[in-house]
Amino acid sequence: MAENFQLWISHDLSERIRRHGAEVFPHECCGALLGRDATAVGSGDSQESGTPREVLDLFPMVNRRDDSPRNRFAVTADDVRDAEKAASQHGLEVVGWYHSHPDHPARPSQFDREHAWPWYSYIIVSVMSGAPAEMTSWRLDDDRQDYSAERIEIRNSAGA
Ligand SMILES: [Zn+2]
Repeated sequence: MAENFQLWISHDLSERIRRHGAEVFPHECCGALLGRDATAVGSGDSQESGTPREVLDLFPMVNRRDDSPRNRFAVTADDVRDAEKAASQHGLEVVGWYHSHPDHPARPSQFDREHAWPWYSYIIVSVMSGAPAEMTSWRLDDDRQDYSAERIEIRNSAGA
């Protein structure tokens, strides 16, 4: 059951995620992805069509895990509330989260998987020696046992 997840994001916003990761290096940056999810409208087995999930804004957050800010990204209930508030102010919804992996590959860690929720997109940017490198996205499967890679499609202009 390989799903073909796709995430649209503008070049500008993807650069902002990279910069955020570089700024807080060697710590992890994190934030929310605000946007729209067309597939949420027509649930059921209707085929995906038109615009997939699209990121239209970012909501940078403070990594509250000060015990181990290098490799521990966890979204708290407060984060969710704040991010949803910011999203609704822009007529958007929270479609996912992003964080960086300082000096580690852009692959979900065991911790990431255990603390992720289904449905959301999770962008990870690898920051090697302070320089942003690979960026990936993934989604946790509904049974929470595994995750699927999501293709990031960098668009020249996202709406606006
Ligand atoms: Zn991680």
